[in-house]
Amino acid sequence: MDIIERFIQNPELEKKEYEELLLASGEPEARKRLAEEAVRLRKLYYGDKVYARGLIEFTNICKNDCLYCGIRRSNRKADRYRLTKEEILSCCETGYGLGFRTFVLQGGEDPWFTDERMCEIVRSIRGKYPDCAVTLSIGERSYESYRRLREAGAERYLLRHETASEEHYQKLHPKEMSLAHRKQCLYELKELGYQVGAGFMVGAPGQTYRELAEDLLFLRELQPQMVGIGPFVPHHDTPFRDEPAGSVELTLRLLSIIRILLPKVLLPATTALGTMDPEGREKGFAAGANVVMPNLSPEKNRKKYELYDNKLCTGEEAAESCADLRRRVERADWHLSMERGDAAEKALEEMEQESKRQEDNL
Ligand code: SAH
Repeated sequence: MDIIERFIQNPELEKKEYEELLLASGEPEARKRLAEEAVRLRKLYYGDKVYARGLIEFTNICKNDCLYCGIRRSNRKADRYRLTKEEILSCCETGYGLGFRTFVLQGGEDPWFTDERMCEIVRSIRGKYPDCAVTLSIGERSYESYRRLREAGAERYLLRHETASEEHYQKLHPKEMSLAHRKQCLYELKELGYQVGAGFMVGAPGQTYRELAEDLLFLRELQPQMVGIGPFVPHHDTPFRDEPAGSVELTLRLLSIIRILLPKVLLPATTALGTMDPEGREKGFAAGANVVMPNLSPEKNRKKYELYDNKLCTGEEAAESCADLRRRVERADWHLSMERGDAAEKALEEMEQESKRQEDNL
């Protein structure tokens, strides 16, 4: 049996075998087979639903200096902004009106947003919109900080590990950052009961199948509920300005592989994928993705959250154009769902609890 079929039958492979899988997956037939299996699994757990999340990019101020990122500390040219609590709430109000039931608060690591301030924002959103989930994506913080944010009502946390290879991590980040700490954060978030999202950029400078094989092993170990991957796209004011962008085709293959590795995972067709290919979204769904995150940030700030060049933030990327997005999703035979859309295992647990409650009432 070839490596593709072996992986489909039992996705627990050795590191060397993952490298072999990645190499073999470049063949058109293999790609087709992986996508077919990925879509089958996705349908099994989530039907034809594509979950929509409203993304609020609330600060582009960052104390970190990641070499790939357009909002890194050393980029003097970035036009910095920070939304007030009122502005964030107003984004939620717009989003709620449009039907969104998940708000993703993403930002640079901006020290102004202390635990007090962040908890207050999360509490306000949960208080006003108790039927909505709040997802945070605000980088590395202390256990105590994660605990308080969880207590304030945040239930999900996105923190891409970026690369699971220590050596590669060092090439992408300044000395003061470490993969060990990033991983520690992810495990702490899990322990605190968050639904956790990890992930990485495809085609980041220095990445080969060897690094990607490590990423797959790490994802298997962590068992996150969400995985965000998208092609690396260079930003003109970063040290990686002249590096080539990551490949859409490889991103699609990896989406299928990750769906097979973690069948119940929530897998977005990311903005970076849409930026690199006008059909990137649809191709992502056809490869196994089932989440989209349109932009709910105030219009005046959108362009400033420039992680990489030409980052999309208009058209179907904008939350206001949800109708266009819906048409696009439905043309591809999927259904755009505005539900909270928790990870399947959580939904299953809740269904079990509900039926137990009903039994108890009988
Ligand atoms: N400060 C938060 C949010 C980071 S931005 C955190 O640390 O988690 C969200 C993601 O954008 C990053 O995790 C990174 O994987 C991605 N990103 C940053 N620069 C990018 C680039 N040049 N190309 C593609 N993706 C990029």
